[in-house]
Amino acid sequence: MDRLEEARRCIRRAEGLREQLHRRPELGHREVETTRLIRETLRNCGVEVLELGLKTGAVGRIVGGRPGRGKLLALREDIDALPIQEETELPFASQVPGVSHACGHDIHTAALLGCAELLSRRREELRGEVLLLFQCGEETFDGAAEMLDHGVFRPRTPDALVGFHCAPELPVGTVGIRRGISSASCDVITIRVRGRGGHGAHPEGCVDPVVIGAGLLTQLQTVISRENRATDPAVLTFGEFRGGTAPNVIPDEAVLRGTLRTYSGAVRRHHLGAVERITQSFCAAFGAKGTVTVEKGMPPLVNDLELCRALEASVERALGPGHVAEGLAPSMGSDDFSCLLEACGGHGVQYQLGTALEEVPNSALGLHAAKNVFPSQALEPGILTLAQFALDYLA
Ligand SMILES: [Zn+2]
Ligand SMILES: [Zn+2]
Repeated sequence: MDRLEEARRCIRRAEGLREQLHRRPELGHREVETTRLIRETLRNCGVEVLELGLKTGAVGRIVGGRPGRGKLLALREDIDALPIQEETELPFASQVPGVSHACGHDIHTAALLGCAELLSRRREELRGEVLLLFQCGEETFDGAAEMLDHGVFRPRTPDALVGFHCAPELPVGTVGIRRGISSASCDVITIRVRGRGGHGAHPEGCVDPVVIGAGLLTQLQTVISRENRATDPAVLTFGEFRGGTAPNVIPDEAVLRGTLRTYSGAVRRHHLGAVERITQSFCAAFGAKGTVTVEKGMPPLVNDLELCRALEASVERALGPGHVAEGLAPSMGSDDFSCLLEACGGHGVQYQLGTALEEVPNSALGLHAAKNVFPSQALEPGILTLAQFALDYLA
């Protein structure tokens, strides 16, 4: 079989797998069927599946056939879905009410499976090893950390880590590579304002956490407007504010939950400290107690410049010239690819895979949109660019 026909077959199989995954989306850490399908597919194409004791998520390994120790390359994609009701009307739309692959992770998973098959068939050309990371729980912010805890990078730390994310703002066949900063750090902040509840008619006998929480929410806006240098991108958003159960009852507690996103570790540390300082002092001024907990953090994602150049060359080899989008702005979104990247000493790249097609309506709406369609045509450039990079890096 010639190379082209071999690649075509891998792509066709990946298309079938993608539809299967899309029909049965699973939320983070509940990707049981998805994991089963990944493991089965890897085994069927002769890829070793590592036993790391993961509940969900999977890791495959391909050992190259060329003599010599060679490098270790990790390819990573995420596999989880979102709690969003799909509204695409695709023939293979989600059959699970309220859950869908609105972030394109079904494309990610299927592309890495297609790439696994292709590399498995061409393993004689590789010197070194490829780790195939199918990461659980990206949307829940903690899947990468869990995989690291299970020793995905033990005993050997990869020399490079590469993966992509679907990008509805780019056309199919185009790849975006952000040199340096690619996406932001993200920390989930929970603030508890503890007051003293009572009857709504007698606030004088209470310490009202709803009023204090509301004041605190506006004070916290000064972290970005007054304490942040204007040239340092940072966003602080509180998307959740809970307090009370009835209109005539002052509750004991109000809870605010939000996210802080930055491009640098120093800015991240300063702002988290500012949130803590303002919360404690502001609540104390009104006789309440404010506590801040920060969880599920991830550092900013900074792509390695040398690997960006190597990837650009591989993309050109795989897709031809003119397929790398220029001047792509970094994103204030986040991806816990950055946790894995940090564990690899920063030696890696996450690139953007275009998924917009003019002839496919709603393919450019955006990530996490119920109506956005990720066309299967994006699988071919996804598989070919991942595989080409591996073939070049381990040549
Ligand atoms: Zn997402
Ligand atoms: Zn995503």
